[in-house]
Formats: sequence, structure tokens, C-alpha cells
Amino acid sequence: VIEMGTPDRAVVTTCAYCGVGCSFKAEMQGDQLVRMVPYKHGKANRGHSCVKGRFAYGYASHKDRILNPMIRDRISDPWREVSWDEALGFAAKKMRGIQAEYGQKSIGVITSSRCTNEETYLVQKLARAVFGNNNTDTCARVCHSPTGYGLGQTFGTSAGTQDFDSVEHTDVVIVIGANPTDGHPVFASRLKKRLRAGAKLIVIDPRRIDLVKSAHVKAAHHLPLRPGTNVAVVTALAHVIVTEGLMDEAFIRERCDWDEFQDYAAFVSDPRHSPEANELLTGVPSAELREAARLFATGGNGAIYYGLGVTEHSQGSTTVMSIANLAMLTGNLGRPGVGVNPLRGQNNVQGACDMGSFPHELPGYRHVKNDDVRDLFKSVWGVEIDSEPGLRIPNMLDAAVDGTFKGLYCQGEDILQSDPDTKHVAAGLAAMECVIVHDLFLNETANYAHVFLPGSTFLEKDGTFTNAERRINRVREVMKPRNGYADWEITQKLANAMGANWSYMHPSQIMDEIALTTPSFAGVSYTVLEEKGSVQWPCNEAHPDGTPLMHVDGFVRGKGRFIVTEYVATDEKTGPRFPLLLTTGRILSQYNVGAQTRRTENVVWHEADLLEIHPHDAENRGINEGDYIKLASRSGETSLRAKITDRVSPGVVYTTFHHPDTQANVITTDYSDWATNCPEYKVTAVQVSPSNGP
Ligand code: SF4
Repeated sequence: VIEMGTPDRAVVTTCAYCGVGCSFKAEMQGDQLVRMVPYKHGKANRGHSCVKGRFAYGYASHKDRILNPMIRDRISDPWREVSWDEALGFAAKKMRGIQAEYGQKSIGVITSSRCTNEETYLVQKLARAVFGNNNTDTCARVCHSPTGYGLGQTFGTSAGTQDFDSVEHTDVVIVIGANPTDGHPVFASRLKKRLRAGAKLIVIDPRRIDLVKSAHVKAAHHLPLRPGTNVAVVTALAHVIVTEGLMDEAFIRERCDWDEFQDYAAFVSDPRHSPEANELLTGVPSAELREAARLFATGGNGAIYYGLGVTEHSQGSTTVMSIANLAMLTGNLGRPGVGVNPLRGQNNVQGACDMGSFPHELPGYRHVKNDDVRDLFKSVWGVEIDSEPGLRIPNMLDAAVDGTFKGLYCQGEDILQSDPDTKHVAAGLAAMECVIVHDLFLNETANYAHVFLPGSTFLEKDGTFTNAERRINRVREVMKPRNGYADWEITQKLANAMGANWSYMHPSQIMDEIALTTPSFAGVSYTVLEEKGSVQWPCNEAHPDGTPLMHVDGFVRGKGRFIVTEYVATDEKTGPRFPLLLTTGRILSQYNVGAQTRRTENVVWHEADLLEIHPHDAENRGINEGDYIKLASRSGETSLRAKITDRVSPGVVYTTFHHPDTQANVITTDYSDWATNCPEYKVTAVQVSPSNGP
């Protein structure tokens, strides 16, 4: 039952699914949620929503939720329900014991992009101020960490440049490695509206996504590139623009480092980067690519939107930098209708990165080696901050297998299901002496846990999420935490059980501390958020009303930096045994590994993951529509049903990763982005063969 009763009150809060950050009125009858109504004053969604935000909240009351803390000495033991004090005391003693035996750096944390800014800030503070190390990482490691690196290098800040309203001023749009219709539906509606009004669209994607051709929209160009060749395609676009003299020289001279531009221009002008020279490699017809480049350079305000099809590659960071180059080359920054816009998959992945979750950066993207920044945090936290960057998630797991990393506090993240190379993740977790899982459900990672701390849903949280346009939205408590405590309180209790003396009474006090320590948040408080509804960072003395558009008068780093982006082929190769390339994506009704959406009451949404395969490849293998197939890679194999479609090109297959049975990460490789270790989920050499089913 989705709607029931007559509401007697309403609480305005923020959707906890994708990075659009839609505002909703949660209408309540007593302590029962009656319905979620899209909030017409919500600045990100303006009264619109998709099915997930509107209906998929049943997981909050699902029978699988764990509401009492549990502990066990060994992972082979049964769980024992205990009081909060006993669970936290047990966890604290184990973690301190590990540090005493194996050293201060033998434990760490993983923060969650689904938790609030305030919760995430406290978890990284737990690592830095209580554990005494920088072993903090976040699930952005496996999605948008290349965005952080790439935009930081080129523009000086690790965030999208525009607000969503900007799309209403755009004339030509590149969508690369993203499928907004399924992944970011409310933004997709705004984009389609603009396209129907005449803006032109270029889609760069191995798959013919809905935007290429649907009832109301037709892309001017679709460049169906071979998975793994993003850098070659974007560099070829730049080649056409430079060699045909279509760049915005005035913008480049005024706003960018001219010497670096000249190096870049010489690089992209080389004939080996022409569309023709790369046609065989990328699979993109050169004439189509040339026309797309001309359209983007001359079509008016040009905006680029991208997703995980850009970042989850061995050259993810390089592709982000190549996109930034393209925007600078065409002068498409610093005004409405242009810009570089990462479409963030999770509700608070922007915020998790902003809050210092990475092992080398304190809140506000400031390096831990910076003495002044560490001094500032020392003055507020009252402890020394380690100046050595900590371990990333894959390094934590490697160190665990090697026997030097022994304890992990993992909040709101199921690394066994979401991270690459499942066997290695399991081996790392199994080698640890204390794994603390803080989550809603006994997830796959919890199979290796010694402590389970029940968490609360977004309906039970008070705090803020930051969406893909840097908009800080309030999340308001709709109902009391069913597990007894808010997640920030649980982290505080763990910190205090380990000897800290934290005394936050309300998440607004945590935000006040964030404002004190983080210049881009200096003007943010719950009072300001109540007054304005939401603000986009930077919000401070220079920008008291926030900053819808970045880099208007100059880049955050000063001059924009062109970076030479050489294409390097992934080490994942096709061959006789594995002749096809697998790439992955999402469907509208499911979210990530489905922990929440699969636990809704609406069974219609429980669509199985399917393998899309081109008719030519299916016929060659004797595969018919709906048949079970075996999907095998060098890493492992799984079974799912076939969907025969020319949405994918011959030689390319595609699936989603929402169901645990699919075990997509058993198939994927352990290759990763050279700069950030973001896994290369989007390119796996596979074979597909008929099967009798799982
Ligand atoms: Fe939630 Fe994203 Fe849908 Fe908006 S578009 S309702 S934020 S899932």
C-alpha cells in the first residue's frame, strides 16, 4: 500500500537516492508516513520527482532492518544482541587493542555517500582525531573520485561548475558516459524540455541510450564508441576544433595558461589524433565525429554532462581532464548554459567528498600535508593531525591481506558487493580482527563483521545532503530513529568509548564546526538554510547567497590549466576466449545494488538484471530472447537472461548491477584509474554462451 490515511502534518526533506537532490514533503499521520509529495519550492526539482523518490521508501519499515546492536568474537559465531553500551564498548576495546598490537595506522574508516554531511564529517574526524591517522576513504572511490582529481587539476575545485537551472540557457549539450533518463530522471526531464525547445544534443556512449532517440527527443549525433576509448574520442573532437580554428582564442588568452594551451594545441593537432586516424580504434565514424565537433564549437552555449561511463575506467581521471580541456577550448565556462557537469549517482557523494572523506584531504579539499590547514583543525579539534595521507579502500584491503591493517569501521557501504574483485575484498575482510558494520541491513560485508551497529534511514535523519550542483539541502527528521539513536550520535558514542570527549547535542552544531573549519562552507548554518531553503557552496563572506555558477571571473586555481591527455589502452583486452566487451549501467526503478529499492512492497520493480546483446552476436551463439546465458570473464562467471537488442553494437554487451544474484563484480576486473584507483567497471572482456540457468 503506497498511499493511506489523511495526513496531519508534513515535513520537508530531501530524497536519499540520486544526486539530483529532489525536495519532498513527507506527509505524516501520527508516526506513520502517508505519502511523499514532490515539493514545489524545491530548487533542484521544482515540484517534480521520479518513481524512486516518490514511492521507494518502504525499505524503512522492512522486516529485514536490524534495530539492535550485535556482536560476536569470530565471524563463524552466531550474532549476539547486546545493549548499545556493550556493543560500543566491545568495538572500542577491539579497535584500541588492535592499535596497541599492530600500530596506530592499523585501523580505518569508510564513509558513506548516502549519509549526511554531518555524519560523514564525524566519521572522518573519528579517523583523524581519535584513531590518529588519515585512513579514511569513501564509496566515491568507486564512482566519482576521478572527478575530484580531474576537475581539481584543471579548474582548481572538485565539483561541477553549474546549477541545474543552467540547462535552460544551453544551446548544445554533450552527454558522455551517462544515461540521465534512468540515472538522474528529474534532471533528464529538464534537459529534454530544453532539447524540445531547440537545443542540440551529442551523445557519446557505447549504447543507444534513450536520449539518442525517443518519442520527443532525437540527438543530432550519437558517437557509439568502443568501451574504453573515451580519451581518444574527446581528443579527436579537440583535434577538429583546433585544426579547423574553431576554438575560443579570446577566452583561452584571458582565462587560461597560454603556454600550457600551446603545448596542448600542438598535441591535439597531431594527425594521429584525427577522427580518421582513430576510427578503427574507437569505432566512431570520422565524418560523424567531425560534425559533432563543429556543432559543439559553433553551436552557441555548450554544456557537457557526464557520469560513471567517464570515471569508471583506467583513464577515468584523464577523461575528466580531457572534458575540462574541451570546455576551456570552446570558452564554455563561467556563464549560464555552459560548463562541466558531473551527474552524481548518489544523494550525497558530492558532500562525502566535500567533508574530507579522502585519505589525503581534510574537509574542503585541502591536503593533509598543508601545515596551516592542519593547524586550523588542531585548534578546533584539540589534537595533532597526521601529515601523511592514509590508505585508500583498495590499499586497506591489500594491507589487510598482508596482515598490517586489522580494523575497519564501515558506515553505510556494502564493499563486498559494490567494490571490484569480490574475492580479494572477502579475503581482506576475513583477515581483519575487527570489522564494524554500521548499516540498515545485514549486508554482504556484515558476513565478515564482528560488530553490527544498526543505522537509520533518511526519514529518521536530521542534517544536510549536497547534490550534484553543490546545493546543500536540509534533511529533516520525519520520524524518530527506529534503532534508537541518530547515526551521528552512534559515531560520537564510538569516539567517546575510544577516549574522546565529543559533546555535540544536535547536527546543527556539527555544521557550525564545518563552517568554522571549511572556507567554502563558512556562511552555512541551519539558520541560513531555513531562511534560504538551500544554498550552493561556496557560501561565505564573498558569496553570502551561495554560488550557482563557478569560475565566472576566474578559475578557482587562477588560470585554467590545459593538460595533455594521451590515450592509453586499458590492459583489459579482448581475445579468442573473451571476444566481447561488457559495460554496465542502471535502470530507472532500481538504485545501485538494490539494498533499498529491492525492499519496497511494489514487486513490479523487482526486475531482474538482463544481458543486452546485439542480434548478430546472439545469432552466432544460438541465443534467443529470454534465454539463460553464461557470462564469463577472466575473473569469474555468472548467469542471467539475454535481451537481444541493437541498442548495443556488435561486439559490446551490457548489463545492470542491481541484483546481488547477478554478482556483476565477480565478472569485473581489478584494473583501476591510474590517479585515483577508481575501478574500471565499464570495460570487461567477456564471453557469452548458452546456459541452463543458475
Ligand atoms: Fe530522488 Fe533522484 Fe528521483 Fe529526484 S531524480 S526523486 S533525487 S531518485
